[in-house]
Amino acid sequence: MSTYKGSCLCQAVQYEITVPEGGQQSYTVCHCKDCQKWSGSAFTTNFVLPTSGMKLTKGTEGAEIKAYTVTKTTSGNALGRYFCGTCGSALYDKTAANDGIVILQTGTLDDAFDAVVHPTQEIFCLDRRAWLKPTDGLKQVEKMFDTGS
Ligand SMILES: [Zn+2]
Ligand SMILES: [Zn+2]
Repeated sequence: MSTYKGSCLCQAVQYEITVPEGGQQSYTVCHCKDCQKWSGSAFTTNFVLPTSGMKLTKGTEGAEIKAYTVTKTTSGNALGRYFCGTCGSALYDKTAANDGIVILQTGTLDDAFDAVVHPTQEIFCLDRRAWLKPTDGLKQVEKMFDTGS
C-alpha cells in the first residue's frame, strides 16, 4: 500500500489516498469537452479509486467542498464534479453509475504520485486539442471507454 497526500490550491481541502501495491488501477487522460471546461485546461487526469481509498483530512462536502452535477453526459450517467468553493480547484468526480468509486483529479496530489503511477489510456481522443500528440504507450480511445456496466 502507498499513501499520497493532496490538496486544493488554497489548502482549505486536504486529503489522503491509499493505493494498493500492484492493484487494479484505472488512470485515464480524458480529452472530452466537459473535462476541458471543468479543468479550465486541455484535458483531465482521472485516477479511479474505491471510495474507501480516499480520506478527506480537511474540508467536508457541502461546506468547503462544493459540487456541480452534470446531467447531460455521454454515458447518460449523472456526474458530480467536486471542487473547492474558495479557490475553485477541481478535486474529484462521483458517477451515478457507481457510488463505490471516486474519480480523483491527480493535479491536486502533492506527493510524487506520478513518479510511480502512470495513466494507461487516453479517451475522447476525437476532442483532443490539435496541438497535442498521443502519448506513447497509452491506449487511444476515440470516445468513451467501455465501462463494462
Ligand atoms: Zn481551495
Ligand atoms: Zn472527460
